[in-house]
Amino acid sequence: MPLLVMKFGGTSVADLDRIANAAQKVQREVERGYDVIVIVSAMSGKTNELVGWVEKTSPLYDAREYDAVVSSGENVTAGLMALRLQEMGIPARSWQGWQVPINTTSAHGSARFVSIPPDNMNAKFAEGFKVAVVAGFQGLSAEGRITTLGRGGSDTTAVAFAAAFGAERCDIYTDVDGVYTTDPRICSKARKLEKIAFEEMLELASLGAKVLQTRSVELAMRYKVRLRVLSSFEDTDETSGTLVCDEDEIMESKVVSGVAYSRDEAKMTLVKVEDRPGIAAAIFGPLADAGVNVDMIVQNISELDDPSDKRAYTDMTFSLPTNQVERAKKAMEDAKAAGQFAYAKLVTDTDVAKISVVGIGMRSQVGVAAKMFAALAAENVNIKVISTSEIKISVLIDRKYMELAVQALHDVFELDKA
Ligand code: ASP
Ligand code: MG
Repeated sequence: MPLLVMKFGGTSVADLDRIANAAQKVQREVERGYDVIVIVSAMSGKTNELVGWVEKTSPLYDAREYDAVVSSGENVTAGLMALRLQEMGIPARSWQGWQVPINTTSAHGSARFVSIPPDNMNAKFAEGFKVAVVAGFQGLSAEGRITTLGRGGSDTTAVAFAAAFGAERCDIYTDVDGVYTTDPRICSKARKLEKIAFEEMLELASLGAKVLQTRSVELAMRYKVRLRVLSSFEDTDETSGTLVCDEDEIMESKVVSGVAYSRDEAKMTLVKVEDRPGIAAAIFGPLADAGVNVDMIVQNISELDDPSDKRAYTDMTFSLPTNQVERAKKAMEDAKAAGQFAYAKLVTDTDVAKISVVGIGMRSQVGVAAKMFAALAAENVNIKVISTSEIKISVLIDRKYMELAVQALHDVFELDKA
């Protein structure tokens, strides 16, 4: 039997009506001849509520009990979905993580898959069951305790099942109808993409396009699971939504496929640090130890204000999430106080945003950066930091120009045209 994985996110199973609506989509695939593994999230808002209850009960909670509580939202929707399907005459059974079993590491709250042995579930399909409804987001540790995979983890559950069972495709039903060239809320010309390559999706996912959990895309790329993102609120068919797939499946890709942005960025500069071997390690070691996610890094010659001082100095600038600024400041001040290195000043700018253009076509095309910078210059947007990778160029700019910059880049790379 050909097999399909269908995943329904929290808004798609938010109440009994929506569960019934999702069940109809499952029914359609069963009628087409598929065995289906359905992965469900908790009803929207439920996981937040459960997390809140845990934190209220025990601020320094035992992570095993956090997982015991927080995983329960998915159990409810899995059972309800199985019941709904049964009411429609479809042989369906629900599965919690331990019943499959979904074996994971013991990192409670951020566990990773170890294995998903298919035998138990295949035996049920062989008995005549058409649908297995699996509680997303959860697993089982070697110690026999329930684990969870990190927020948004049901996407990753879906991809893992598609890989383990060799599914034809993994359909992710959500509250948007696909992946867009940029956020339609800030750029009215944003266009839905028919296809996007794994690598591009990975960049967009990690840059804050919140459609898919980043790890699910990593997993899909590794096991070449074809992923489709589509709306559970619309009539859909095999051509709906956006297919996230191998670049070989994309006949002609544009140089730039999307523009991503991240609002919550900050920039820090250590002014006049002594320039010597080991200075970068001395700075970024303590930042890493403090759990600061440094993203872009620029090192510059520092201006010489004292001609008699013959030592070499450098300015070190880096970007980080806004909510980690205090932690980063403290790490730097502590390192300075401990004599690990010295600097003249620590300058923080929390009014910046990061804008990135992403596209696998960049690998073979020159002049993309120049075009991007010219478009920003034409809008009088000043660039503060630049970083590039093979398929991405990112700039840090003043946050107040964020929307303008996204629109200008969307225009210059003609992303509104297919
Ligand atoms: N319910 C979990 C969460 O809200 C997992 C998921 O929906 O993907 O994070
Ligand atoms: Mg989600």
